[in-house]
Amino acid sequence: MDRVYHVGNATITKIPELILDSNSPEYLYPQWDPAFLLEHEHWLVPENMDQTRTHVIQSIHTWLIRTRQHTILIDTATGNDKERVWFPRLNRLNTPYLERLKAAGVTPEMVDYVILTHLHVDHVGWNTRLVDGVWEPTFPNATYVFSKAEQRHYSDPENYPEKNRVKFIIYKDSVLPVIHAGQAEIVLPDGTEFLEGVSLYPVPGHSPGQMAVGLTSNGEEALFGGDVMHHPVQVYRPEWNSVYCEDTEKARASRKWVLDYLADRHALYFSSHFAGTSAGRVTRTGNSFKWKFC
Ligand SMILES: [Zn+2]
Repeated sequence: MDRVYHVGNATITKIPELILDSNSPEYLYPQWDPAFLLEHEHWLVPENMDQTRTHVIQSIHTWLIRTRQHTILIDTATGNDKERVWFPRLNRLNTPYLERLKAAGVTPEMVDYVILTHLHVDHVGWNTRLVDGVWEPTFPNATYVFSKAEQRHYSDPENYPEKNRVKFIIYKDSVLPVIHAGQAEIVLPDGTEFLEGVSLYPVPGHSPGQMAVGLTSNGEEALFGGDVMHHPVQVYRPEWNSVYCEDTEKARASRKWVLDYLADRHALYFSSHFAGTSAGRVTRTGNSFKWKFC
């Protein structure tokens, strides 16, 4: 069982789905500099980079937040049975994700909000599950929250010529069914409070309408940053975009905004893809930042 974090009166638990170890650092980060490895390998290997130092280690998971009022999931990982032939590691998964959620004390019926930072393949999959050949919402009592800019972009087949049509397939099997079920709340994130203690911030770039989720309780703070960063090396090299970032300049600006927020507000950071505990703190050292898992 993963550890339970406390932020004021809220508790936060990671619900793991997969570990990925197939990306080389040069692939994930086109600006990768081998000198970075020499300086940082004492903490990178073996949890964040494999023993051969040729592959980065990443996690796909969901964060479960329990406040006094709400049971919230941040993102829903890849999902089972999804046809993802272009990415064999994610194709037709069969993981015990819902059993892991149950082991944390939560059944699908108990979830009342699902907040999606963005609508990429590894963030929306458990929105739905296959029931008698039909994709149905996995969380029958939940409101699914995502941004208008994401919804507009990924619902428009015009944005997906042949080579990129897969993103429209993801939208069809994992997002459209919750809209058709009347369970979607499509929002314009502006930093104001969305639920008590929960605020949605625009952090576009990795995807057109990505949101970060801020949590405040009893004077303590946390931030869930979506894919603003894919690996802790970006705390030290915020100018490095991942190969998946769709608008490179906006992605850099959003990453800088998140790092400033974490350092200035002493907020706990809950990442989407860091390995290990996937959570930690950012501090400022001169003009740069430092990461520590906790
Ligand atoms: Zn992701």
